[in-house]
Amino acid sequence: MLSASGLDRRLLDVQGLTKSFGGLAAVKGLTFSVREGEIVGFIGPNGSGKTTAFNLITGLLAPDAGHIWLAGEEITAFRPHAICAKGIARTFQLVKPFAHLSALHNVMVGAIYGREPVAALATAASQARETLAFVGLAGKDQVEARRLTLVDRKRLELARALATRPRLLLLDEFMAGLNPQEVQTAMALVRRIRETGPAVVMIEHIVTAVMGVSDRVIVLSAGQAIADGPPEAVARDPKVIDAYLGGVGVA
Ligand code: ADP
Ligand code: MG
Repeated sequence: MLSASGLDRRLLDVQGLTKSFGGLAAVKGLTFSVREGEIVGFIGPNGSGKTTAFNLITGLLAPDAGHIWLAGEEITAFRPHAICAKGIARTFQLVKPFAHLSALHNVMVGAIYGREPVAALATAASQARETLAFVGLAGKDQVEARRLTLVDRKRLELARALATRPRLLLLDEFMAGLNPQEVQTAMALVRRIRETGPAVVMIEHIVTAVMGVSDRVIVLSAGQAIADGPPEAVARDPKVIDAYLGGVGVA
């Protein structure tokens, strides 16, 4: 269990983050924080800037303005590998495994290039096997990534991210395309991840999953955070119902 002081500790701070593409401001003065041990749902309509925010936080894009701190250290516009080494890992909306590598080798890459780089291949392999088992891929270490089903490729990408030993894990629509049973399994997995250490921010459209698993929900609309609070409060917020759900309510 986390101590109360653990819950108070700020892990990620994002302030005034802004990014435009041509004339379009995809992310506009976005400000929010994540504490250690939290699971945060990151929701909003398509095109509201969720993935762009993740791309800015992980260094795939440089912001036009704004700042990002991890545990008090500014990491704004660091290169992606440096941000990974500091302890932020992510999965992609469209999974990006190394298609022709085995599941084991995919996850070993995470162990070797992560926050606590593992130099010995045998150690990386044994850590990778443990991580594969943790995400439900025990026994599939030798399967090529491209031969796995969608749900298994998603698990593989999660395992690769976890193998970097992140302090903060960003999940971009991890549950999209899963059936209801698989969503339940994925929700349990997210809870277990938090128990092992990292805070989690999850972009997710499946409302029951976000509401069921998040300690806090942040709602984006047109690149700005329009609500930030406990799931029940956010679901009742008229601004959210208007902007995000078009007035139909959360159901
Ligand atoms: P979300 O993940 O919330 O659906 P995105 O962050 O992907 O939204 O996109 C926000 C807006 O920025 C959208 O209008 C999208 O078309 C635009 N956008 C995102 N990435 C790029 C890019 N690399 N080049 C141009 N426009 C982009
Ligand atoms: Mg997206």
